[in-house]
Amino acid sequence: MANKVKVDLGNNSYNITMIEDFKDSVKRFASSTESQCMLITQENIFDLYKNQFNDLSNISNVNIFLIDEGEKAKSFDSTISIVNEMADKRFDRSSLVLAIGGGVVGDIAGFAASIYMRGVKYIQYPTTLLAMVDSSIGGKTGINLEDGKNLVGRIYQPIAVEIDTNFLSTLPKRELNAALAEVVKYGFIYDREFFDYIVNNITEINNRNLDVIQEVITQCCEIKSDIVSEDENEDELRMILNFGHTIGHAIESFTKYEELLHGEAIFYGMKCALYLSNKFGDLNNDDYKESCQLLSKFDLPSLNIDNKDIFINFVKNDKKFRGENIRFILLDEIGKSRISEDISFDQIKESLSTL
Ligand code: ADP
Ligand code: ZN
Repeated sequence: MANKVKVDLGNNSYNITMIEDFKDSVKRFASSTESQCMLITQENIFDLYKNQFNDLSNISNVNIFLIDEGEKAKSFDSTISIVNEMADKRFDRSSLVLAIGGGVVGDIAGFAASIYMRGVKYIQYPTTLLAMVDSSIGGKTGINLEDGKNLVGRIYQPIAVEIDTNFLSTLPKRELNAALAEVVKYGFIYDREFFDYIVNNITEINNRNLDVIQEVITQCCEIKSDIVSEDENEDELRMILNFGHTIGHAIESFTKYEELLHGEAIFYGMKCALYLSNKFGDLNNDDYKESCQLLSKFDLPSLNIDNKDIFINFVKNDKKFRGENIRFILLDEIGKSRISEDISFDQIKESLSTL
């Protein structure tokens, strides 16, 4: 099995590598520069891997910086604390930022790296399955505003993504399960064979068989890397990564980001998108049935959309659709997707009845 995936972005190309031990990798990067390095993580990750982090904190040019838990950490305030700390410690253009955590750590550490001295290099060490298969690839960095998530940020590529799957041993079951939404999504939109692999290995995946999980992560990285390499700045092709996300994002806002994890909302969003693909698009009944069967294997918290009209307003407010037509991602078949401008808000409302 390949343990490296290249993200091909010309001068900004880098490798995603499966590694055995993040500590060795951090040591290697820290010793590659004379300058200061900032390792950014969160307290609970630090506590779970205390021995390794304590060991790393003994390296003379490694500084550890802890950010808060949750989306509130993605703020201007914490960005300012990070860059102030870097300036205080005399970080320079050859300094490195090492982001060890899930999406929250990756987004803010990447953003801070992108603006300090107009940009220093950073490395992603994703510790959640979601970050391993999705957020650490593609260079999206950013913070939230009161008006919405990720409204300030940049596309700024890391110089490497280093994946140590041992981190997954401590990831709560619910987080792992939710992240599988993005995994399944890659099969749906891009790769029928990968979809079949997930169907055949679902028990192994849920039991955290690391060989199977590494294969799954490698496949996801290859697919995402293929898509972002074609389309770094999110024009056409990259939009298919939004499969299940138009309705999924609306579900997250409708439930005030309190009830569901991102992946759980995306599972629901994909159910609706499959319904629409079957009823108003080209997805045949067999593929539809098989897709629904796979989705039914994942546990989800209950969801009650009592007022569909209010819900639709959340769909209309998605920042991606400022124009009149929604650009909705449909499946033509398992493994093949496209952007459609023919889906109406009434049809979306109808699809909610499948939930
Ligand atoms: P993502 O967006 O990647 O799902 P977040 O950054 O929101 O992840 O992290 C979700 C939660 O999981 C946070 O509380 C984070 O500190 C915690 N976490 C991250 N990695 C691990 C891990 N390997 N083991 C246990 N908890 C983790
Ligand atoms: Zn997503």
